Amino acid sequence: MKVRFWGTRGSIAKPGPSTLRYGGNTSCVELRADDGTLIVLDCGTGAHALGLSLASGSAPVRGNLLIGHTHWDHIQGFPFFAPLFEADSTWSVYAPGAGDHKFQASLAGQMAYEYSPINIDALHAEVRYHDMVEGVFEIGSVRVTTHYLHHPALTLGFRFEADGASVVYACDHEPHSLYPLDAAPGTAPVHHEDRRHVEFLAGADLIIHDAQYTMDDFPEKLGWGHTPLERAVDYAILARTRHLVFTHHDPERDDDAIDALCKLAREHASGAEHVPEISAAQEGQTIGVAGDSARPPFTLSKPSAFPSREPRKPATVLIVDDDPDMVLLLETALRADGLHVLSAGDGDRALELARAEPPSLILLDMHLPTRDGMEVCRALRSEQDAQLRDVPILVLTGRKLKETDLVAAFVAGATDFLTKPIKPTLVRACVRSWLLRTLPQ
Ligand SMILES: [Zn+2]
Ligand SMILES: [Zn+2]
Repeated sequence: MKVRFWGTRGSIAKPGPSTLRYGGNTSCVELRADDGTLIVLDCGTGAHALGLSLASGSAPVRGNLLIGHTHWDHIQGFPFFAPLFEADSTWSVYAPGAGDHKFQASLAGQMAYEYSPINIDALHAEVRYHDMVEGVFEIGSVRVTTHYLHHPALTLGFRFEADGASVVYACDHEPHSLYPLDAAPGTAPVHHEDRRHVEFLAGADLIIHDAQYTMDDFPEKLGWGHTPLERAVDYAILARTRHLVFTHHDPERDDDAIDALCKLAREHASGAEHVPEISAAQEGQTIGVAGDSARPPFTLSKPSAFPSREPRKPATVLIVDDDPDMVLLLETALRADGLHVLSAGDGDRALELARAEPPSLILLDMHLPTRDGMEVCRALRSEQDAQLRDVPILVLTGRKLKETDLVAAFVAGATDFLTKPIKPTLVRACVRSWLLRTLPQ
């Protein structure tokens, strides 16, 4: 496989003399299998130059566009992607969703009359739209495994296998927890979703990973949905990858600042048992990825506690919190996604409601009157009703959560954590991804 970077910047394009070496365009990567299968990853402003390059050939373009999520820095190049305007081109466009084609509405929205002179209906190419959930599918000779990332929008990361080689693209993603803090490089994370993320990366020849921030930035950036560089390096060490290319560069970092990040990353990895090659993504850079054709196909274990079941429409979410303002904030966020919401202000009432109308997911505060969150977790996990035993429980915690509390909550049966102050966008994305995981595919 061959990978070429057309856009390496996160959040907003930053062209100019200070970003000449690493690039100013937002996310866009071209991936080519040896048989010519074309996959474009994200459609930020970098897609403009890629589109011109593709459209300059004489043959019609058959391509596949995989959009990890629909934040602007991943879709703004779509209305300017030349092959979409060629009548003999064929494109399959994929993005996360539950079969409702909401992402198609997002792409059309940014081309509405108020924002764009060209409507989405003016695309001349044959364009097919596909929603994606977590799973495995094939595009030509390339096997694609998708995996939910932790970001304030429904977001998927991608793992590609072809020609005996494997490439992972994981943008944008925030660790589910930073624990253990101050551990040696390559120490396994405490949170099982972070361990599952490492499993998704394991053994990849090339990992292209979000690293917009550093651990020093992180107190200010918690909940923004990005990885501190040191953690991306830890993941690459644990995954025993050959090469980590970090990307989604912050618009506030110039070329010299990114050079300094390369130095920081290499220093962080030095002394680890496995030290991968580490570099920062550069616009215009091409990387050839050779693999091993005898390698068995990759499989990502399913979260075994969450078996598929019949969808209940609309899904019911139970909010358990004794703070009425928090309940209102969460209710408002979830109702925007068409969910049916129940709420309880104490532990006893939570169990009573859950037994009367078993929810598809529970948001659970740790500190509650009558029974605390841990007790509620333990009680639910020992219920007779399988739906209550298996229901995803997202625990709401404060910033002062200790590593021991996190471990204790997992032992009690928690599924995942959301840290206060709560960002409604992160709650919506997290709830959607957990609900999609529990529905049949
Ligand atoms: Zn982004
Ligand atoms: Zn984003």
